[in-house]
Amino acid sequence: MTLSHWLVLFLSLGGNFTQKSNARALSGMGPHGTVVPSEGARGVGRARREGNPIAADGRLDAGVCRDLASAVCGGRGGAESRIERSRRAIVRGFLAVTRTSAESFSRAMGDVFGAGAPLVSKLSDFLQGRLGPAATQAGERARARLLQAVQDQAIPAEVKTAMIERVRNVRIRFFPDPSDPDSVRRFIANCGADQMAARAFAVPGENTVEICPGMVAGGADENGSVIPEAVAASLMHVLAHECGHCIGADAAEGFTSEFRPRFSGFRGCLQSRFRDSQSDGRLGEMVADFWGAQALAREVAGKRPMEALEYLRRAVGPLCATTADAEHPSGRFRINVLLAETPGIARSLGCRVEPEACAIDGTVGGER
Ligand SMILES: [Zn+2]
Repeated sequence: MTLSHWLVLFLSLGGNFTQKSNARALSGMGPHGTVVPSEGARGVGRARREGNPIAADGRLDAGVCRDLASAVCGGRGGAESRIERSRRAIVRGFLAVTRTSAESFSRAMGDVFGAGAPLVSKLSDFLQGRLGPAATQAGERARARLLQAVQDQAIPAEVKTAMIERVRNVRIRFFPDPSDPDSVRRFIANCGADQMAARAFAVPGENTVEICPGMVAGGADENGSVIPEAVAASLMHVLAHECGHCIGADAAEGFTSEFRPRFSGFRGCLQSRFRDSQSDGRLGEMVADFWGAQALAREVAGKRPMEALEYLRRAVGPLCATTADAEHPSGRFRINVLLAETPGIARSLGCRVEPEACAIDGTVGGER
């Protein structure tokens, strides 16, 4: 199968080592200039001086409810550097170098890839050894959350059964199959020779999802230590989004999802409310985000508002760097509408449930 047969349904979320992530340009971009903590207690202290999202009674500041994107993305530059350091640390383990400057690191990577395919294949093996167990665990956790979400929707039983069957059988791949040259070529083309691009893809027609190893590595800590829980959190949205394409509304040359008609109410509801959703070509991505948000809602249920916010920062931070294109609404729209209006997420943050929130069948004020 050639690359052209792959319906590439998720955008590049950032750069790899040679292409510096453009996320940094976004830091501090929130419309109100809100600075929120990246993580941990020290960050909270810093935020308290600069517009703290936590009020004295432990509730989140009302600004978080009005503009979740700023609360999630504010001060994003720090988080992006952390993710980049994680990716470097993982590959540095392979290179067995301790040099830390960007220039010397790039040179070391250049030496590796100048040496050709055998080293690329060795790198894949190394990455699989380091990241494979956490990746598999993250994949199964996202699948379980998505299955719960499908189960909870107000859709006919036979559609639900078909969707559940589909989700159970989605093939989730994090690493190239070394015995399949097409798979190796595709991973290198999509994920970069170092495999560290933060990208993911779905091929709904084949019920297959591919996640670049770089996305998994971004969930490691700055020393490259892989903590499965943290990796699962960082991949929950992207995995549920990509698997969501397999039960979504995508239409492209040679492929139209059998489930597309099920989302006409959702489409109509969004289109009547938001200009960002006007392009019909964006329906596939908006439905995938619907499923991503549904999975996240089940993951944050029961967390305290600040914990839920921290989780969302990790889970959807990559969207912060994105802008609208033919298929995708802007990152701000994706966070402030498709994510924040999901009733389970609003409740976890202690925010009011938007009475006009769009549900799968288009009804507003849904409780899902
Ligand atoms: Zn997508």
